Amino acid sequence: MEYKIALLPGDGIGPEVIAQTTMVLDKIGMKYGDSFAYTELLAGGCAIDAVGEPLPQVTIDGCLASDSVLLGAVGGPKWDTLPGEQRPERALLGLRGALGLFANIRPAILHQALKEACPLREDIIGDGIDVCVVRELTGGMYFGDRGRRQGDMGEEAYDTECYSEVEVERIARTAFEIARKRAKKVTSVDKANVLESSRLWRSVVIRVAKEYPDVVLDHMYVDNASMQLIRDPHQFDVMVTTNMFGDILSDEASMITGSIGMLPSASLGEGTLGMYEPIHGSAPDIAGQDRANPIATILSAAMMLRFSFGQEQAADSIEKAVTQVLAQGYRTGDIMSSGMKLVGTKEMGQLILAAI
Ligand code: NAD
Repeated sequence: MEYKIALLPGDGIGPEVIAQTTMVLDKIGMKYGDSFAYTELLAGGCAIDAVGEPLPQVTIDGCLASDSVLLGAVGGPKWDTLPGEQRPERALLGLRGALGLFANIRPAILHQALKEACPLREDIIGDGIDVCVVRELTGGMYFGDRGRRQGDMGEEAYDTECYSEVEVERIARTAFEIARKRAKKVTSVDKANVLESSRLWRSVVIRVAKEYPDVVLDHMYVDNASMQLIRDPHQFDVMVTTNMFGDILSDEASMITGSIGMLPSASLGEGTLGMYEPIHGSAPDIAGQDRANPIATILSAAMMLRFSFGQEQAADSIEKAVTQVLAQGYRTGDIMSSGMKLVGTKEMGQLILAAI
């Protein structure tokens, strides 16, 4: 198969980590008989410099005409003084909207070899951690009715949490589909003891679960879930939750895995077109110095193979290569510890290539 990939390297370390990732994809293509055709497009600060806006229409059109989108990172101090609407980060929101991406998938995996990076006790870590947070991305309080008004006690401000059956159904389905490819357990996180929107959320998730009898479903209140993630992360496989709860829980889950340079993410919609990107930013402090960890982006490409192209074996192959290189003791600066071998961005890419 030939797959069309829209490449959005972006700013800072974005182009460096994307360069390593396309080499890995090409090697995987050779191994499994696929090829990848890349169209490089502007998004973020580099787009502002070139054409005066963070997300040009030609970039949106190019993404829509592709089978999938791979993004590096956007932003940097150069554009920090611009007003909100013109900032590089607006490109991310614009792309989510234009591509109809309503589900954000963030696996938080702690590799056995990186145990030292985890702030949890060794007996809690056990043989590693593997949790996947599925966050609703386009609804809830971040997009609800909001405003200010005069009340009896002075000025008031309000933000509204609103979810429709359709919004909950589709994110629940995404979570159950992902769980089917993992340990077949979904924990739906809500606040149904207090919030009406959570009670609807819970009833819809229960209804959707009937379509997935092979997946175990349980429910947890968000306050308890935030404690349980630290007390016993092994009880979780896939956690599905609202935009706001997911914003907080996905950051908590990534923290327990240690480095930001290791974590991939995917944003998915109804079809197979998805946007894949590392969770880190453009790291201007290390840009252009061959110090960035390319693993988060390389693992994002593995997610793309799995979720957008259905290439499970190819995805496994990349993930195994990363595990192998870490087990051999190679580390970029962000995950370095004593006794390990320090390598740069390019060498880490080459090592992963060699391991495939
Ligand atoms: P950041 O993630 O860019 O960097 C935080 C720290 O982690 C820095 O010390 C950086 O050197 C380090 N780091 C990040 N990725 C790394 C990697 N792959 N390898 C090694 N070290 C790595 O966050 P920040 O400094 O808060 O933001 C910098 C810029 O990135 C800002 O303009 C911000 O708005 C933008 N940003 C973009 C995205 C995105 O594109 N999705 C996400 C977050 C921040």
